[in-house]
Amino acid sequence: MFIIFSLPLLFTLPLARANSSSLASCLSDNDLTVEGPENSTWATSTTPFNMRFHYVPNGIVYPTQTSDISKAVKCAVKFGLHVSALSGGHSYSASGYGSRNGALVLNFRDMSQVDYDASDETATIQPGARLGDVALELDKYGRALAHGFEIGGHAGFGGWGFASRIWGLLIDQLVAANIVLPNGTAAIRGAASSFGIISQYIFKTHEAPSSVVRYSLSFSNPDLSADKFTQLLNSYQSWGRTAPKELGMEANVFQGGRVVELGGYYMGSTADFKGIFNSLLRETGPPNDTYVQERSWIAALVEVNGGSPLSTKGQPDTHATFFAKSLVVPTASPLTNSSLSELAKSFAKTKIPSTLSWFIQFELWGGGDSVISSIPTTATAYPHRAHLWTIQFYAYSNTTWPSEGTIFVNGLVSTITDNTKGTKFGAYANYLDPTLTAWREKYYAGNYARLANLQEQIDPNGVFMKAQNIGALDF
Ligand SMILES: Cc1cc2nc3c(=O)[nH]c(=O)nc-3n(C[C@H](O)[C@H](O)[C@H](O)COP(=O)(O)OP(=O)(O)OC[C@H]3O[C@@H](n4cnc5c(N)ncnc54)[C@H](O)[C@@H]3O)c2cc1C
Repeated sequence: MFIIFSLPLLFTLPLARANSSSLASCLSDNDLTVEGPENSTWATSTTPFNMRFHYVPNGIVYPTQTSDISKAVKCAVKFGLHVSALSGGHSYSASGYGSRNGALVLNFRDMSQVDYDASDETATIQPGARLGDVALELDKYGRALAHGFEIGGHAGFGGWGFASRIWGLLIDQLVAANIVLPNGTAAIRGAASSFGIISQYIFKTHEAPSSVVRYSLSFSNPDLSADKFTQLLNSYQSWGRTAPKELGMEANVFQGGRVVELGGYYMGSTADFKGIFNSLLRETGPPNDTYVQERSWIAALVEVNGGSPLSTKGQPDTHATFFAKSLVVPTASPLTNSSLSELAKSFAKTKIPSTLSWFIQFELWGGGDSVISSIPTTATAYPHRAHLWTIQFYAYSNTTWPSEGTIFVNGLVSTITDNTKGTKFGAYANYLDPTLTAWREKYYAGNYARLANLQEQIDPNGVFMKAQNIGALDF
């Protein structure tokens, strides 16, 4: 069930920069205040999470209810502005600011309510809620969602966490949403920002496990040669194809490639975990460091959060300077030994600035009886259901971005693709990469044409258009 709010289609073309005072009058006539460059908070409000991008909005509105969104969109349309929703603000390319200067940004800071309904075990969540706060609120009722990051964008494009193999992606748990434009029910699940502004999501919740087994097994130097790396990742890849859905897992390659950590959590007993994992360790050999502990659900989420508290109340926003890419690997055509070996040689030999750090995450999405793979390809906009891994390549800098960082990440990805010829890799739209070519196919595969058709009907004048939205030209 989707609750739809219609807006009159009064779009003025072409979309252009508005006279900000007339926009401000329109907004104030509708009891909305707009934040602009004259406000002392402007610099902070317009600094994105990824400092590599900086788009200057025409203004920022902070809705407190659905009708505010509707009114703000009407004003934007009247003055020919693009509109963009900003929820957690953690887009990899600051897409919440509209991917260009001059958008009217709707910041959901003041819409972060979480309400649990015991009668149907659903949670109604506003887009500004952070998943740590959501986890704490639902835990009061013994309920849980697959964890991850912010609700707004995260639930808009996928939403993967260690619970996703047993519960599905966050979009798979979505039962309803409020959106300000007509139509587009299936499209909301995996391409939300292309179709409208969501003012609340309703998710199916799950019984929170009384405890989970948190684990981390590290393989490190002096043993981690390119051959050992290949054998380790290859064993994980083969073994992952039959891993039970209760296991959430990723291989995290970090410290310049000197450490590979197999980690996550298992929803079951320690004895069962050890039984399952021993079959992998027989292939990989023993790790250098082992951590296996039963933890309460919330304690496990805190550990996954790097030890930081889940509550974000009163916490300032953090920032980073980074570039990331993803490859989604089909289960039927796994990575070859040569691609893994060349990857290890590549990161070992490539010289990068000392200010740059990086990691690669091989996230286990499919395999075995994973719920992610049980959802039909066309049920949501996210198409990669018959896929084993989503690999994330991520480099970050503690100074301004060095161009070597982009070259380095691109090099790692092409080492894999060049040595796995014939495989059609996908990409994950929540690890948004504005430089990605053929992004329509890579993010949405066979679903793109249907989504583009829908986008054209719903938003023919491109009020919500931004880079890599459905229907967007290449920016
Ligand atoms: C440190 C970090 C950790 C992460 N971990 C994970 C992870 O474990 N699993 C995973 O799957 N992803 C992860 N991500 C990726 C994350 O899911 C995406 O960056 C996501 O888009 C962020 O959501 P947001 O609400 O912060 O988005 P924003 O930056 O606010 O917006 C992102 C996009 O969604 C649109 N959008 C936002 N709100 C709405 C709305 N209400 N209606 C319509 N469109 C909207 C925006 O307009 C924009 O296009 C991580 C990201 C970071 C930075």
